[in-house]
Amino acid sequence: MQLIECPWCGPREEIEFSYGGEAHVPYPAEPAALDDTEWAHYVFFRSNPKGLFAERWVHSVGCRRWFNAVRDTVTYRFAAVYPIGGAVPALATGEAAASDAPDSTPVPAAELESAAR
Ligand SMILES: [Zn+2]
Repeated sequence: MQLIECPWCGPREEIEFSYGGEAHVPYPAEPAALDDTEWAHYVFFRSNPKGLFAERWVHSVGCRRWFNAVRDTVTYRFAAVYPIGGAVPALATGEAAASDAPDSTPVPAAELESAAR
Protein backbone atom coordinates (compact mmCIF):
# COMPACT_ATOMS: atom_id res chain seq x y z
CA MET A 1 0.00 0.00 0.00
CA GLN A 2 1.36 3.37 -0.91
CA LEU A 3 0.30 6.85 0.04
CA ILE A 4 -0.83 9.26 -2.66
CA GLU A 5 -0.52 12.97 -1.99
CA CYS A 6 -3.93 14.57 -2.60
CA PRO A 7 -3.29 18.28 -3.33
CA TRP A 8 -6.12 19.22 -0.95
CA CYS A 9 -6.16 16.51 1.72
CA GLY A 10 -2.53 15.48 1.96
CA PRO A 11 -1.25 11.91 1.90
CA ARG A 12 -3.93 9.23 1.83
CA GLU A 13 -3.95 5.50 1.10
CA GLU A 14 -4.15 4.58 -2.56
CA ILE A 15 -7.46 2.72 -2.15
CA GLU A 16 -9.13 6.13 -1.72
CA PHE A 17 -8.24 7.12 -5.30
CA SER A 18 -9.47 6.21 -8.76
CA TYR A 19 -7.59 6.42 -12.03
CA GLY A 20 -8.96 8.76 -14.67
CA GLY A 21 -6.82 8.12 -17.72
CA GLU A 22 -4.19 10.10 -19.51
CA ALA A 23 -3.87 13.79 -18.63
CA HIS A 24 -3.61 16.62 -21.11
CA VAL A 25 -5.84 15.11 -23.81
CA PRO A 26 -7.58 18.16 -25.26
CA TYR A 27 -11.20 18.01 -26.39
CA PRO A 28 -11.35 18.58 -30.15
CA ALA A 29 -11.61 22.27 -31.06
CA GLU A 30 -14.27 21.56 -33.70
CA PRO A 31 -15.91 18.25 -32.76
CA ALA A 32 -18.52 18.46 -35.52
CA ALA A 33 -15.75 18.52 -38.11
CA LEU A 34 -14.28 15.16 -37.06
CA ASP A 35 -14.97 12.01 -39.01
CA ASP A 36 -15.45 8.62 -37.34
CA THR A 37 -11.78 7.74 -37.52
CA GLU A 38 -10.74 10.99 -35.86
CA TRP A 39 -13.38 10.53 -33.14
CA ALA A 40 -12.24 6.99 -32.54
CA HIS A 41 -8.69 8.23 -32.21
CA TYR A 42 -9.75 10.90 -29.70
CA VAL A 43 -11.88 8.52 -27.62
CA PHE A 44 -9.81 5.34 -27.64
CA PHE A 45 -6.19 6.06 -28.47
CA ARG A 46 -3.88 6.89 -25.57
CA SER A 47 -0.19 6.82 -24.92
CA ASN A 48 1.15 3.75 -23.16
CA PRO A 49 4.67 4.66 -22.10
CA LYS A 50 7.01 2.62 -19.97
CA GLY A 51 8.11 5.07 -17.31
CA LEU A 52 6.77 8.47 -16.32
CA PHE A 53 3.23 9.21 -17.45
CA ALA A 54 0.95 12.20 -16.79
CA GLU A 55 -2.44 10.95 -15.59
CA ARG A 56 -5.71 12.18 -14.11
CA TRP A 57 -6.71 10.90 -10.69
CA VAL A 58 -9.66 11.56 -8.40
CA HIS A 59 -9.77 11.32 -4.62
CA SER A 60 -12.99 9.36 -4.94
CA VAL A 61 -13.63 8.54 -1.28
CA GLY A 62 -12.13 11.75 0.09
CA CYS A 63 -12.64 15.25 -1.23
CA ARG A 64 -13.79 13.88 -4.64
CA ARG A 65 -11.63 16.40 -6.46
CA TRP A 66 -9.63 15.70 -9.60
CA PHE A 67 -5.93 16.33 -10.01
CA ASN A 68 -3.09 15.35 -12.28
CA ALA A 69 -0.19 13.16 -11.32
CA VAL A 70 3.02 11.96 -12.87
CA ARG A 71 3.38 8.27 -12.14
CA ASP A 72 6.00 5.76 -13.14
CA THR A 73 4.16 2.98 -14.94
CA VAL A 74 6.95 0.53 -14.15
CA THR A 75 7.11 1.00 -10.40
CA TYR A 76 3.60 2.48 -9.86
CA ARG A 77 5.18 5.21 -7.73
CA PHE A 78 3.94 8.78 -7.95
CA ALA A 79 6.60 11.32 -8.86
CA ALA A 80 4.44 14.45 -8.57
CA VAL A 81 0.87 15.68 -8.24
CA TYR A 82 -0.42 18.98 -9.60
CA PRO A 83 -3.75 20.68 -10.22
CA ILE A 84 -5.91 20.16 -13.30
CA GLY A 85 -4.91 22.78 -15.85
CA GLY A 86 -1.44 23.04 -14.39
CA ALA A 87 1.75 22.47 -16.29
CA VAL A 88 3.56 19.18 -15.96
CA PRO A 89 6.06 19.70 -13.14
CA ALA A 90 9.71 19.66 -13.98
CA LEU A 91 11.21 16.51 -12.55
CA ALA A 92 14.87 16.13 -11.87
CA THR A 93 16.34 13.32 -13.90
CA GLY A 94 16.78 10.32 -11.69
CA GLU A 95 14.73 11.73 -8.82
CA ALA A 96 11.44 10.51 -10.21
CA ALA A 97 12.58 6.98 -10.89
CA ALA A 98 12.31 4.61 -8.01
CA SER A 99 15.57 3.15 -6.85
CA ASP A 100 14.12 -0.37 -6.84
CA ALA A 101 13.57 -0.30 -10.60
CA PRO A 102 17.01 -0.18 -12.20
CA ASP A 103 15.60 -0.92 -15.66
CA SER A 104 13.42 2.17 -15.77
CA THR A 105 14.90 5.23 -17.39
CA PRO A 106 13.46 8.50 -16.15
CA VAL A 107 11.99 10.75 -18.79
CA PRO A 108 13.06 14.39 -18.63
CA ALA A 109 10.14 16.76 -18.07
CA ALA A 110 10.61 18.32 -21.51
CA GLU A 111 10.01 14.96 -23.20
CA LEU A 112 7.02 14.25 -20.97
CA GLU A 113 5.45 17.61 -21.88
CA SER A 114 5.87 17.00 -25.59
CA ALA A 115 4.36 13.54 -25.26
CA ALA A 116 1.40 14.95 -23.33
CA ARG A 117 0.31 16.95 -26.42
ZN1 LIG B 1 -8.54 14.87 -1.39
